[in-house]
Amino acid sequence: MRYAITPPDRVHLSVRGSDEIYPVRRVYCVGRNYAAHAIEMGHDPDREDPFFFLKCPENIVTGGADFPYPTCSSGVHHEIETVVALAHGGRDIAVENALEHVFGYGIGLDMTRRDLQGEMKKQGRPWEIGKAFDHSAPMSGLVRASEIGHPDAGAIWLKVNGEVRQSGDMNQMIWKVPEMIACLSRLFELAPGDLIMTGTPSGVGPVSRGDVLHGFAEGIGEVQCKVA
Ligand code: MN
Repeated sequence: MRYAITPPDRVHLSVRGSDEIYPVRRVYCVGRNYAAHAIEMGHDPDREDPFFFLKCPENIVTGGADFPYPTCSSGVHHEIETVVALAHGGRDIAVENALEHVFGYGIGLDMTRRDLQGEMKKQGRPWEIGKAFDHSAPMSGLVRASEIGHPDAGAIWLKVNGEVRQSGDMNQMIWKVPEMIACLSRLFELAPGDLIMTGTPSGVGPVSRGDVLHGFAEGIGEVQCKVA
């Protein structure tokens, strides 16, 4: 059998302290997972069921490459988030066993065309044009859980041009990592290579061309990119 067209390259992330690379399958994202962010977006921070959307693996930008300001939007926002990378998949994963499925962690930006997302929300339409556009997921490499454990607390922040815009603590997540994995595994069969972007703390806001974004999560790492 031969390919009818040249197959697209698989997206991968680097792994700290190793020459191995991590192949990405799906990119699940959790919405409104920090109470202060839910409030700033005009929602009730009560613990309602988590909800999910997807970005595409091809949206990932690595190695500190530029984030090109996307077309069709004049309201692009930053959302700094930690990223969970799965080593093992499954269905109906129990909360108690969920962390055994984790390969490691990274940090990424869920860049959002907020104006388009807002329009889609109003019209009850899907969010892809607001969330899953090209280059919408600048991301760090991964660190192995075998090296750092499973951080469930610690500072997470984003600076824009050296000024802190978002600041929180990973312990403020409404849905914890094991709960997210368990919940997702009831909705989808998870597989090695799946990433989960875990939601953003408060302080989201617009970016402009020329801005330098610098994100940090304690014990996990940093991500940096420039809006081009
Ligand atoms: Mn997000």
